[in-house]
Amino acid sequence: MREVTLVGGGLSGALLALMLARRGVKVTVYERRADVRAEQIEEGRSINLALSVRGIHALNRVGLDAEVLARAIPMRGRYIHPVTGSCSLIPYGRTADEVIHSVGRRGLNVQLLDALAREKNATVHFQHRCTNYNLRTQTLTIRDEAAGREVGVEAPVVIGTDGAASAVRLALMQSTRMNYSQEYLDHGYKELTIPPAPDGTFRLEPNALHIWPRGGYMMIALPNLDRSFTCTLFLPHRGEPGFDQFPMPEAVTSFFTRTFPDAVPLIADLPGEFFRNPTGGLVTVRCSPWYSEGRVLLLGDAAHAIVPFFGQGMNCAFEDCEVLADLFDEHGGNWDEVFPRFFASRKPNTDAIAQLALDNFIEMRDTSADPHFALKRQLEHKLEERYPGQFVSKYGMVSFHRTPYRDALERGRVQDRILMDVCARANALAEIDIDAAFARLRAGA
Ligand SMILES: Cc1cc2nc3c(=O)[nH]c(=O)nc-3n(C[C@H](O)[C@H](O)[C@H](O)COP(=O)(O)OP(=O)(O)OC[C@H]3O[C@@H](n4cnc5c(N)ncnc54)[C@H](O)[C@@H]3O)c2cc1C
Repeated sequence: MREVTLVGGGLSGALLALMLARRGVKVTVYERRADVRAEQIEEGRSINLALSVRGIHALNRVGLDAEVLARAIPMRGRYIHPVTGSCSLIPYGRTADEVIHSVGRRGLNVQLLDALAREKNATVHFQHRCTNYNLRTQTLTIRDEAAGREVGVEAPVVIGTDGAASAVRLALMQSTRMNYSQEYLDHGYKELTIPPAPDGTFRLEPNALHIWPRGGYMMIALPNLDRSFTCTLFLPHRGEPGFDQFPMPEAVTSFFTRTFPDAVPLIADLPGEFFRNPTGGLVTVRCSPWYSEGRVLLLGDAAHAIVPFFGQGMNCAFEDCEVLADLFDEHGGNWDEVFPRFFASRKPNTDAIAQLALDNFIEMRDTSADPHFALKRQLEHKLEERYPGQFVSKYGMVSFHRTPYRDALERGRVQDRILMDVCARANALAEIDIDAAFARLRAGA
């Protein structure tokens, strides 16, 4: 029986372990944290996530899609909150099933770990942190956090699914000629909570992703099953406004009252949460190659952490798992064949989604408040309706179709340029010649 050691039992680690165990591989997972199922441990970052087609498709491969979707809240579009004036919903898709889903990170991890626990080939060691990996001796150094001791573990095949600050990646960087870059945004993020109303209902429209776009910064909110919302404020670390500009609680309340007036009465403990909750950083990690022979591979955020503005980090990591499992089947489990092919097939696509996510930050914070953006979305839906199969919007290619991210980036850029130009010359859909717009898209000019 083949054996694989995974470092990291988070979202991608648990899913990959499940896929490999079902293929007869003996899988051992070392996870730094305590078992999320056993105790109410610290949530970590981003308590809810947008799940879309790639993630759902990968979950379907292990029969978990229906179970996960049963605990998810569909979001039909962006609900825009201007500073003054009325709110509006800009639908993501054209049809009822073109939605994305808000899922709780912890609940999803529990569902994956529960499924993994039913696999006799898989063992998960919680509170076991990898502190080093020696490629030459093929040995992991694992610290048993509960016992307070460190042991060496022989691991001929290692997959690092240990997230953006991967210990496996660090060890690879030190022992191979790996190229590496990390690029932080000037912006950070902070989570705040909108609790349910006293009668137990949602305080905002539940089937939407709420956005307060404000030019250089923004806040978003996603619904949770307990009828609360988790808000995420994206603000520069420094400057005016910036996370460093709030010496006193009054400054926070006054900033929110000026910029997010309708959210102020909804957030229960605004200054309290603001000062209590950590400010997270937003980083894009690029490295290459992600493997060394058939011995070690990086997957998910460990290989390609991206900023969260397209809601794709987890979806992309789940797609990684699916691609790796398919290559495993194709090459009879020969890792010397599988790892280089996996890297070659995923790297152009993960570079593309990294760029799409950075581009989408601009779109969300700046242009989603622009009336031309709403018009562009209407035009995209009209084009999809009139030219089914011939036109799919950039958002659709990424979130509702499994178009390779590289193609979505290339085609999406052409679309954005042409459609924004068409919409800048019109005030309403009725003023636009749809066929002429399609002809321009086909010609790419
Ligand atoms: C604010 C924010 C919002 C986001 N929103 C979305 C979204 O809406 N949709 C989406 O698709 N993605 C989203 N993402 C991205 C998503 O969270 C990640 O892409 C996803 O979690 C990657 O999964 P992973 O398993 O590769 O890494 P992780 O989820 O980070 O899991 C890594 C695991 O490895 C463990 N670990 C780490 N180091 C060690 C070690 N040394 N030894 C042993 N174990 C270790 C960790 O404890 C963890 O369990 C968001 C991210 C952020 C920060």
